Amino acid sequence: MKTFKSESLFKEAVKYIPGGVNSPVRAFKSVGGNPLFITKGEGSKIYDVDGNEFIEYIGSWGPHLFGHNPPFIKEALLKAFENGTSFGAPTELEVKMAKLISELVPSIEMIRMVNSGTEATMSAIRTARGYTGKEKFIKFEGCYHGHADYFLIKAGSGALTLGIPTSPGVTKGNAADTLLADYNDIDSVKKLILQNKSANQTGRNDIAAVIIEPIAGNMGVVRASNTFLTELREICNEENIVLIFDEVMTGFRVARGGAQEIFNIIPDLTTFGKIIGGGLPVGAFGGKKEIMEMVAPSGPVYQAGTLSGNPLAMAAGFAALTYIKDHPEVYTLLEEKSAYLENGIKENLKSLKKHYAFNRVGSMSTLFFVEGEANNFKSAVKSDTALYGKYFHEMLIRGIYLAPAQFEAAFISTEHTKEDLDKTIKANYQAVEALTKK
Ligand SMILES: *Cc1c(COP(=O)(O)O)cnc(C)c1O
Repeated sequence: MKTFKSESLFKEAVKYIPGGVNSPVRAFKSVGGNPLFITKGEGSKIYDVDGNEFIEYIGSWGPHLFGHNPPFIKEALLKAFENGTSFGAPTELEVKMAKLISELVPSIEMIRMVNSGTEATMSAIRTARGYTGKEKFIKFEGCYHGHADYFLIKAGSGALTLGIPTSPGVTKGNAADTLLADYNDIDSVKKLILQNKSANQTGRNDIAAVIIEPIAGNMGVVRASNTFLTELREICNEENIVLIFDEVMTGFRVARGGAQEIFNIIPDLTTFGKIIGGGLPVGAFGGKKEIMEMVAPSGPVYQAGTLSGNPLAMAAGFAALTYIKDHPEVYTLLEEKSAYLENGIKENLKSLKKHYAFNRVGSMSTLFFVEGEANNFKSAVKSDTALYGKYFHEMLIRGIYLAPAQFEAAFISTEHTKEDLDKTIKANYQAVEALTKK
């Protein structure tokens, strides 16, 4: 595989950009080597500056449910361009977008658009605090909610991969507001609430919110159990705590109505990102009207954005969500493709006598290089990340581009063909076999 042009671009990049990339996991730090520079994406494939072609499973880290450059999003964008890129005043599309989301996700009575998942989760926490008058919140070890200070405590995704789950630059004050529980362990939540109550003179809890990825994707794919989420919902009701589902990754990915549709649980607030922007920078947070009415200018919780609800971003996002609305069969198709890939990989592992955990929910999955199960943070992080690094490169030279990190999801799009999947399954067999030989 030729990588000369990527290598020389990277040399230039590191001079001017920290680590040569604008988001940490894009660097190949945890798998070794240097990142490839991409020129083009079409359907299930991406192309780099050296002319290599890859079947890829990153999908820009989640947004590309319909693969790269789907014609209906391209058309919507070109049309929007005609009228200008930003007005800083309301547009009709913002109303249509809000209405469409509340139609697709019934728990959303009101919604506010922002520019990233990070902004969405940050604003959701602030809104929950404003609503409850309380300050602390609970998050789960290994979950990633963007890079706001108080979320970077035992965080997942790149923070976990790069060994900085708790980042320097986060103040003690911020860290003290974040209470950490164990994923899929309801007793750890109960214990935190009890501790918090007894530390308060009033005997009441000082916890504004519980935020969770209902299907975790940022410690690799780990599904929450039904009973765990049901109990979490009950506890939040009893304790006057706002339950926030962070569906930045799972929203419109695992089902039309997100993970909350699969579990049939209604959170108080939900955060979105990724797919909702159709490949442009969009995030959103929404939920119960009573809570969302706290947000300025209808209420006192300040939240704003110069480019929020941007016409181009809304055009792309609206095109994606409209397609989803008009084609509910998208999720059946994705399930079929994903199950096919899962079966192929599991067959490979069986015949190679490997007992690695493979987790999948709909079109997101992770092959963990750990024997047995990966059903919570503690078992997931036992994965052999060095082995994953080797696997990543074995796949890459065979034309399959996976996330350059163990603790991430692989995403399948509607554009992955049977031929793509067969090539991937074959590459997986050869790659795992090659690891065994070394
Ligand atoms: C990606 C992600 C975020 C952060 O979104 P950005 O757009 O990268 O800021 C937050 N929460 C979850 C669950 C995510 O997967």
